[in-house]
Amino acid sequence: MTTEGEDRAFILHRYPFSDSSLVLEVLTASQGRLGLLARGARRPRSALGGLEAGRPFLLRWRGHGELPTLVGADEASPARLFDPWQGLCLFYVNELVLRLTARNDPAPELFAAYTEVLEALWSERRATWYLRRFEQRLLQALGWAADLSHCAVCGSAWQPGTDAWSQGPGTAPRCPQHAEPGAPVLPDALIQWLRGHMAEAPPAAVREPLRRYLRAQIDSLLDGRPLESRRLLAAYLQRQRDSGRPVW
Ligand SMILES: [Zn+2]
Repeated sequence: MTTEGEDRAFILHRYPFSDSSLVLEVLTASQGRLGLLARGARRPRSALGGLEAGRPFLLRWRGHGELPTLVGADEASPARLFDPWQGLCLFYVNELVLRLTARNDPAPELFAAYTEVLEALWSERRATWYLRRFEQRLLQALGWAADLSHCAVCGSAWQPGTDAWSQGPGTAPRCPQHAEPGAPVLPDALIQWLRGHMAEAPPAAVREPLRRYLRAQIDSLLDGRPLESRRLLAAYLQRQRDSGRPVW
């Protein structure tokens, strides 16, 4: 059965296929992640040239099976140029989506979160907190976010201002009574931020615990295979430090 489709989409990843074509992994607004074959896209003057990550497109495809054929691509807004830091952050976001989602699994909340993180990439050029927001939104959209309202052992409700909760095995939070010795603390402000709208940067004091908490959750889903983008981001930040430039 041949199917046709059209949707707003972002390119997550592209790789060569045969002499002149590309396989695209894209995130669509209503159909989740799709694989598409862009025939002839690597030929000079192809109408399917310029299919790059970080740009919003309206894509049209036709075909069946795992890899329908891309038949049209209109850019939905003017192209933006990425500096190296923005490019690495985009690579990280795309790698997370590729590693944690499957094809043909609709996730409209994820598309909204992806659009939001790309906007933040532009407006907050030198921040990183919006990556934490995207990580949490991604976990929520895929149904893997830890329940931050209840202790994973006794089910007691979290209350702001009580003794700090801690991270349990599998990253689910635990009340003080059920904390394991040496478990990372989850400050109140961290839980409050993750439970709220995450519209603004979290308090500076919780940024590092927040990064570690979300990293532990994501790592538990990655089957031990590291993220290439994380290695590149760490190397970039180290070069900034080595050269005396400010690290944000
Ligand atoms: Zn408990």
